[in-house]
Amino acid sequence: MVFNFLRQSVLLISALLTLPVMAQHAHGKGSLQLVLNEDVLQGQWSMPMEALLGFEHLPKTATQTEAMRKLQKSLESASYFIEVPADARCQQIEVRAESDMFQGIQSKGHSDLHFSFKLKCANPLALKKFDFPFFKSHIRSNQLKLEWVAQGSQKSATVRSSKPTFSP
Ligand SMILES: [Zn+2]
Repeated sequence: MVFNFLRQSVLLISALLTLPVMAQHAHGKGSLQLVLNEDVLQGQWSMPMEALLGFEHLPKTATQTEAMRKLQKSLESASYFIEVPADARCQQIEVRAESDMFQGIQSKGHSDLHFSFKLKCANPLALKKFDFPFFKSHIRSNQLKLEWVAQGSQKSATVRSSKPTFSP
């Protein structure tokens, strides 16, 4: 039992180490690392702000300020980004949305959103399908490079806005 647990941890850690460190900034395209460890689903999503807001500089108009504020507010819930099966009975335990823009820092040309979340799921075996509803609200977003890591297994996939779904 203990050995099994250790073995799984080692596999998980080595899988994490092989993940790409940083995704390239390409407009419309984001990256997501999804890790399932026991009953905790953890995600790290990066996306150019251009794909989400249509601009990457600090807001210049009231409309832009409102759009950015609305995005920040929406991201208080991980379900704005990812939808998990109801049977999995997941609860959000942590969420964080970071960007230079949210802090009022003018970047040199480009800005990204870095969004991380943790869900605790009563029935993680039901995590067989993930949907990404944000594609519908942010039509400049068209692609998500996904790395999936779960107890000893690893999978890469490209999720596109035309079919915003991933099944491990
Ligand atoms: Zn950019």
